[in-house]
Amino acid sequence: MEENKGKKRSIYIDTFHCKMCGTCMEESPETFTMNEFTQLPEVTKEEVEMDDSVRMAVVMCPTKCIHVEGED
Ligand code: SF4
Repeated sequence: MEENKGKKRSIYIDTFHCKMCGTCMEESPETFTMNEFTQLPEVTKEEVEMDDSVRMAVVMCPTKCIHVEGED
């Protein structure tokens, strides 16, 4: 895990499996936001720095629907 710290990755949310719990937005509000039209979470950046808050969001997602490029 330490080796990935600071690396930039693309993140994809499988919104079909998202249950809109809000955890990702609580853990990393700079990275995840609610799309006001779809009422689904989305990633705010094309490439995300994999800091602890982003890692926590990925781990804490109850349906494991946040996917990190190269880590599936
Ligand atoms: S943590 Fe997972 S299930 Fe919850 S809102 Fe975010 S993407 Fe959806």
